[in-house]
Amino acid sequence: MSNFYEAKVLTVHHWTDRQFSFTTTRDPGFRFQSGQFTMIGLNVDGKPLLRAYSVVSPHWHEELEFLSIKVPDGPLTSRLQHLKVGDTVLIGRKASGTLLTQNLLPGKNLWLLSTGTGLAPFMAMIRDPEVYELYEKVILVHGCRQVAELAYDKVIEDELPANEFFGEQVTEKLLYYPTVTREEFRNQGRIPVLLESGKLAADLGLPPVSLENDRFMLCGSPEMLRDSKTIFEKLGMKEGNMSTPGHYVIERAFVDK
Ligand SMILES: Cc1cc2nc3c(=O)[nH]c(=O)nc-3n(C[C@H](O)[C@H](O)[C@H](O)COP(=O)(O)OP(=O)(O)OC[C@H]3O[C@@H](n4cnc5c(N)ncnc54)[C@H](O)[C@@H]3O)c2cc1C
Repeated sequence: MSNFYEAKVLTVHHWTDRQFSFTTTRDPGFRFQSGQFTMIGLNVDGKPLLRAYSVVSPHWHEELEFLSIKVPDGPLTSRLQHLKVGDTVLIGRKASGTLLTQNLLPGKNLWLLSTGTGLAPFMAMIRDPEVYELYEKVILVHGCRQVAELAYDKVIEDELPANEFFGEQVTEKLLYYPTVTREEFRNQGRIPVLLESGKLAADLGLPPVSLENDRFMLCGSPEMLRDSKTIFEKLGMKEGNMSTPGHYVIERAFVDK
């Protein structure tokens, strides 16, 4: 059996000239946990051109959704951004990734810190009822340059609380903190700065972050990951992985070449 299968594109949505999302059919044999990524791509000149992509949809969903950057000269996304309904995309059969609650020590609050397309794995997690069962609060922080790049903001604010299956958990436990760096907005500034100054917790009405209560998942730019990690180390927090759970886990949203 091949390592990937051919899926059909069902919908395409362009958020901005830098970001778009699309949904595809799901092979019933493709299993993943909310928060994981797989390889996806296109056949180019008869050969598969694949890149890692976090799955936006939760594990229980019958379709798959992806949120993608558009890199103007990117080998894959210069092509992928022209996807149309009915087109074929290749999807890897194996999912992996460290953004799993089992890689974290037990805690009270789960913080999901993301920038740009790093939001993708957390869109899956905030639609997974099992995640809410483990924490008192689930806090989604999304940092972008501009307000228009805050993809899924209306889904998070309006649709999730009204969901018939987990809307109650969302209303009770989910806190959403969008922040932008290059425009006027109700929340402004870089995530590590907001975290270290205590503004993030204070704005959300939460006590200061502590080793005992707070657990973090991060997916974003290399700078956000590096600077947040420095803050966690100062607090005495340890990074978790598949063999040893810790206070925080990290996934890169992309690799800077
Ligand atoms: C674990 C993992 C999960 C990923 N999940 C996603 C995802 O859900 N959505 C997504 O769009 N990309 C994701 N990526 C990045 C993705 O694999 C590709 O790099 C991206 O699709 C661009 O492909 P490309 O061939 O067009 O350009 P590439 O040659 O792969 O990238 C060219 C350059 O563009 C920049 N870049 C690439 N991806 C991004 C991005 N997402 N945001 C900002 N700048 C970027 C980097 O500077 C990179 O060096 C993920 C990467 C990893 C390692």
